[in-house]
Parts: sequence; structure tokens; C-alpha cells
Amino acid sequence: MIPYRVGIGYDIHRLEEGRELIIGGIKIPYEKGLYGHSDADVLIHAIIDALLGAATLPDIGTIFPDTDEQYKGANSTVLLKKVREMVLSKGYSIGNIDSNIIAQAPKMMPYIPEMKKRLSEVLDINVENISVKAKTNEKMDAVGEKKAIEANAIVILYKKGV
Ligand code: ZN
Repeated sequence: MIPYRVGIGYDIHRLEEGRELIIGGIKIPYEKGLYGHSDADVLIHAIIDALLGAATLPDIGTIFPDTDEQYKGANSTVLLKKVREMVLSKGYSIGNIDSNIIAQAPKMMPYIPEMKKRLSEVLDINVENISVKAKTNEKMDAVGEKKAIEANAIVILYKKGV
């Protein structure tokens, strides 16, 4: 049994008017927000899928189905906390997380320190173990045309004493 397990996560949501933009658990002022059944927090969804993948648990859509009314408008930090508990109950601890937010607009950089702080609180891990990087899509495709925002994440879990 290897003591380490890695997981990868990816997510994308459409940008639409009349929605709040919430990424990494932070509300970002912008003319549009991400559309989805929950609060559509694209970064947290990618991190959730990476955690679930590393622990070989079912994916986010299986665990929190978008047909389930209880997840309508759900705060993704609450979902992340649930997933953390699932991972911990399998005997794993979270090592570090690296992630990308790919957005043409708005600028993510000013919000990254606050996102990392929020994620470290929700996951109860040191902020030094969380990396969030921001990129544009060089004006290409849906992300580059400001129609969507994408995120990916990778995590490593470890088991103590294995
Ligand atoms: Zn999502």
C-alpha cells in the first residue's frame, strides 16, 4: 500500500448576467457570475474532484447531484468541508494543493491571497500548502471570449504511519 495518492480535478462554468461571481469561496465584484446548480464555484469544484479522485471516491456530480434540490444555490465551501470529512474518514490527510484559475476577466490576482486563506480555513490545512495560480486564455475559445471560467487542481493525500 503506497502512503501517497494524487488526484486531478477540472471544472468549467458559463458566465451569465444576474449571478454573483464566487471563486475560491470569495465574492468577486464583476458584471457577471458563474452559472450552475450550486454557487458554481469553479475552483472549489475542481479541488473537490481532485480530492475525491485521490481517495478513489465517486465524482462531485455523483455525490452532489444537480437534480437534488438541497444543493440548489449551495455554498461550495460547505460541500468542500463534507468532502474533506469523507477523505479524512478513509484515513487520509491532505498534503498540498496546486490549482489554476483560467479567466480572461475579471483579474483574479488581487483575490488570490483571500481565496487561499479561505480554502485553508475550510480544509484546516496550512495556507503554505495551497497554491492558486491565475491565467488568461490568451483571448482564445469560450474562456478567452469571457463566456466561461475554468479551473483545474491537483492534490496529494497521505496516510500516516503506512
Ligand atoms: Zn462546477
